[in-house]
Amino acid sequence: MALIVQKYGGSSVADTASLKRVAQRVVAAHRAGHDVVVVVSAMGDTTDDLLDMAAELNPDAPKREMDMLLSAGERISMSLLAMAITAEGVPAYAYTGRQAGIHTDTRYGKASITGMVPERVARALHTGSVAIVAGFQGVNDRGDVTTLGRGGSDTTAVALAAALNADVCEIFTDVDGLFTADPRIVPLARQVRKLDYQETLELAANGAKILHLRAVEYARRYRVPLHVRSSFSDKLGTWIADDRPASTLAGYLDPDSFDRKEQDMEQPIISGIAHDRSQEKITVAGLPDKPGTAAELFRQVAAADANIDMIVQNIAVNVPGRSTITFTCQSGDAKDILERLEKAREILDYREIVYNPEIGKLSLVGAGMRTNPGISARFFEALSKAGVNVEMISTSEVRISVIVDADRLDEAVRALHAEFNLDAQETEAVVYGGTGR
Ligand code: ASP
Ligand code: MG
Repeated sequence: MALIVQKYGGSSVADTASLKRVAQRVVAAHRAGHDVVVVVSAMGDTTDDLLDMAAELNPDAPKREMDMLLSAGERISMSLLAMAITAEGVPAYAYTGRQAGIHTDTRYGKASITGMVPERVARALHTGSVAIVAGFQGVNDRGDVTTLGRGGSDTTAVALAAALNADVCEIFTDVDGLFTADPRIVPLARQVRKLDYQETLELAANGAKILHLRAVEYARRYRVPLHVRSSFSDKLGTWIADDRPASTLAGYLDPDSFDRKEQDMEQPIISGIAHDRSQEKITVAGLPDKPGTAAELFRQVAAADANIDMIVQNIAVNVPGRSTITFTCQSGDAKDILERLEKAREILDYREIVYNPEIGKLSLVGAGMRTNPGISARFFEALSKAGVNVEMISTSEVRISVIVDADRLDEAVRALHAEFNLDAQETEAVVYGGTGR
């Protein structure tokens, strides 16, 4: 018998027929003798609809009230699912984040989990019931509802799996798993059978939309095996773990599949390509080339509460004593940053700011990079053959990222997908649901 945490995204619980289907899946796992905890997202586009209504009434809505509002979406799906499961003859109880003992800090709209005390969930399991928990929400020290940021239900599921020491956390979505690239850009993208935590982290952090980044961080820290799969089929999805999942899963999900699938295929050097259109580029030219300049510049950026991603500094050869710093940020943050930099013109003593919102970021990820030399050469060769100009570069042990012109991004992704032999023989990707997750 295993303890299974299942998370169903919005498109898997979009309407009552979907809820019924999910209920049957949950009941099947329960009848097979497993303890089942279910985390649900809001139905379909509910969260977006709530956001639209709020914006209509107050474009600058108070954050506390916004979280109160958004948390309501998950309350609807969790209680309806509990009813659907009970109708199948299995006792089920729904819990809000607070009732499930999910404690967070006070940052409304992007709260972090600070403690997990899922006592009532554990008790429900103990009495043979299914426990259903509202995704993406918790409670702060003030006793107020907080939310974990868009897509945060993944994090709720992984945090519960960690706290309950679950055997697996299944992330049910509307695609069959993680793909070597976004199938909308690369029709021949292939389903990835297995990823380790670091690869998944790099893909999620660099634009792959399938998992909430913090969920992957959490899974890695607590070594929670994840299985990302479709709620619309019984196909095996993508396993995310460093080791083989525990054998207690036998009879539910055959953990041998974790290895067996791999034997069909040579262990690939590259696991996938992520892309991100949500970044913009800011260049601050003619800065004094002396200690403390970068520190002051990024103090200003931090004051705008913005995260930056890539940074490049160049010495201006033709202007002695001056240097140029270029960095990328999330598009929503650029306006604030530019305003701050404008105000700090005198302190920073720069000559000029160049702002370019039309960029795209592409990241090649694979654990095999650690041990296979020559990947960078092939990477840049393929881009040059495709006539794609590289504007910025950054790397990690298992990743190479570049910034390119937004218009050339798709082409660049396809060129690299082909170069690293990731193209499937025939189209594999099927999207079953709507636009949601
Ligand atoms: N319903 C929330 C959202 O749409 C949380 C989630 O789906 O994970 O972002
Ligand atoms: Mg959602």
